[in-house]
Amino acid sequence: MRITAIKGFSDILPEAVEPWQFVEGKARQVFSSYNFSEIRIPILEKTELFSRSIGETTDIVEKEMYTFTDRDGSMLTLRPEGTAGVVRAYVESEMYKTEPVRKLYYMGPMFRRERPQKGRMRQFHQIGAEALGRADPFIDAEMLLMLRDFFAAVGLDGATLELNSLGCAECRPRYREKLLAFLRQKEHLLCANCRRRMERNPLRVLDCKEPGCIEATREAPSILESLCAECRDHFDLVKRLLAETNVAYVLNSRLVRGLDYYSRTTFEWTSDQLGSQNTVAAGGRYDGLVEELGGPSIPGVGFAIGIERLTLLLREKETNQPAGPSVYVVWVGTPARDWAFGAVNRLRRQGLVVEMEGEAKSLKSQMRRADKLKARSVLIVGDDELQKGRAVLRDMASKQQAEIAFDNIEAELLSRKAN
Ligand SMILES: [Zn+2]
Ligand SMILES: [Zn+2]
Repeated sequence: MRITAIKGFSDILPEAVEPWQFVEGKARQVFSSYNFSEIRIPILEKTELFSRSIGETTDIVEKEMYTFTDRDGSMLTLRPEGTAGVVRAYVESEMYKTEPVRKLYYMGPMFRRERPQKGRMRQFHQIGAEALGRADPFIDAEMLLMLRDFFAAVGLDGATLELNSLGCAECRPRYREKLLAFLRQKEHLLCANCRRRMERNPLRVLDCKEPGCIEATREAPSILESLCAECRDHFDLVKRLLAETNVAYVLNSRLVRGLDYYSRTTFEWTSDQLGSQNTVAAGGRYDGLVEELGGPSIPGVGFAIGIERLTLLLREKETNQPAGPSVYVVWVGTPARDWAFGAVNRLRRQGLVVEMEGEAKSLKSQMRRADKLKARSVLIVGDDELQKGRAVLRDMASKQQAEIAFDNIEAELLSRKAN
């Protein structure tokens, strides 16, 4: 019987991998220019890390995590997001003792047991960045600028930035009470899910996508009107910095995060290019998380970009066909094969992409294969060529061919690659 992949887990086949490498490469490039360094964290963590950082009452922890008991009885979870692991590593390695300000980025798979649908997999991939140790609004603005630059670098246009502030430990509880009082009056109009979690996590009701809940909370009090003076000043400066650097945004006071540790600046970049409004990147400030995970009181701000959705958006725009090999070496006869094997190796070490056959095939069938692989040049060697010390070099686009001395092959191919 044939074994298939697990539902919600998919392969990224060679034909589809090019946009992934492109997006990852641009992230490394742009993030480095903002002085972010890469961190690689494990895929598997203790379950407690996520229940503590993401919050027991969130959908993720309640029903979406891949959690299992290890052979020694400990509870482990496949990471559903990256921030918790990065902060755990920051605290565990005591990075803050040598240099509290750390700008880190990561990329890789995340896991949630969701209902699979278009662009939403159980193993999905994110590129994320976290800036730890800075409470000032300049770093909030810097991260948004970095995202703007990243989207420009990959060629994604038309993404909208939605912005909100979630207040702090001082002003958010006051807002929470105000919102709860409002929700209690509307309770009969809310969906079962919202009624259930309303008392414990009233902000999540604003995030509910049920039309009844959206309608019932249309007149809900805005968190932006409940901010304390410090939170208001912080948010005003973020907005001013964005305006000064030409980053357009819309305020959305319904933008609340499912994760409990978020505070102050929170944001989402959305795109409507796939029909409905889709989130491409989301993030915000989480000033309480480092302490929550056993570290000192150190602020943080971060975001994550969904790679599946981003590559889907880029694919709608254009498809970059992966380039074929620079050179395909065609050989006829055993002596030519042995010469070709050495030549291919030398050319590869010069950075050229080179291919040849291992088994004897006709000249015609090798030429067909070169064509199929989209090789740019073909080098043909047989007994005659070996004797003359010259090969035939054919340009596949122009169909022109000429004899070339063995000694000149490397230089000629390298100059063609440069053009
Ligand atoms: Zn506040
Ligand atoms: Zn609801």
